[in-house]
Amino acid sequence: MEDSPVLIPSTLAFLPSLTYPRDMPELPDVTLYVEALASRIVDQPIERICLVSPFFVRTAVPPIRSAEGKRVHRVSRLGKRIVLELDGELFLVLHLMITGRLHWKPAGAKVPGKVGLAAFDFPNGTLLITEASTKKRAALHLVQGASALAELDRGGIDVLAATPEAFAAVLRSENHTLKRALTDPTLFDGIGNAYSDEILHRARLSPLKLTRRLSDEEIARLSSAAVHTLREWIERLRAESRGRFPEKVTAFHPEMAVHGRYGQPCPDCGTPVQRIVYAENEANYCPTCQTGGRLLADRALSRLLRADWPKTLDELEQRRAAARGSTDGR
Ligand SMILES: [Zn+2]
Repeated sequence: MEDSPVLIPSTLAFLPSLTYPRDMPELPDVTLYVEALASRIVDQPIERICLVSPFFVRTAVPPIRSAEGKRVHRVSRLGKRIVLELDGELFLVLHLMITGRLHWKPAGAKVPGKVGLAAFDFPNGTLLITEASTKKRAALHLVQGASALAELDRGGIDVLAATPEAFAAVLRSENHTLKRALTDPTLFDGIGNAYSDEILHRARLSPLKLTRRLSDEEIARLSSAAVHTLREWIERLRAESRGRFPEKVTAFHPEMAVHGRYGQPCPDCGTPVQRIVYAENEANYCPTCQTGGRLLADRALSRLLRADWPKTLDELEQRRAAARGSTDGR
């Protein structure tokens, strides 16, 4: 009973306040960007930086102009950020947030109006950065030295590089729902809304199961599912791009098992995919594969939810605990 998932009935999932789920590029997408950039700009100098949005650059020292004329040594990933390492231990660190995207154009291409944030001119092409949203949230930092770069690291472990033991230790370090733990950048690096849904489906675990209630076997299953899901998607995206610059980066793919597939059949069992909606986000899951067929296990929680919608998964967790407490006290 303790582990029974507390799921919001799908009728509640259609409240008018809901917005379209908004997902940002995650580890597989960022990896593809890093590879596409590395093959084009490593050893090339940044000839010119053209900035359109005044809010895009978040650092003043060193000045952004000091990156001009510098050569790119390496392109890498830091969580969901892309890092260009330049001459003189300068690091350009780019976070695309939700709708920020990269484009590779012929040298000298102009920054498109409205969505354009910046252009980086290289001798062999121009890197355009766009953001298709009125709220400009994408961010560029220019920092000097490895320690300044380390300050931008949220601290989550790289699932693809971590041992199963390290994965288990991080998972058990706090008690949260699995959905929240997997998407917490201070615990795991580069996993967001889309791939957490896919990982949990593959591991056959409920998004609302609490991390400290997991058995060793469940953690091993989750760790393996995380590695396999991320690797498989990197391979799939590589095969799709076939060396071209990744122009159609999205968190929604028809080949995904559950993410963004509410109401569609689970590819493994055919059950319609369900969802839990919170704030501007949602978790998709298959009740048959992941929650023992249960949609809603707790009437007290559902009453609470009707009265006041939780804004975060944290809040949902607290309510779940409170609802259980009041039921137990009866
Ligand atoms: Zn299923």
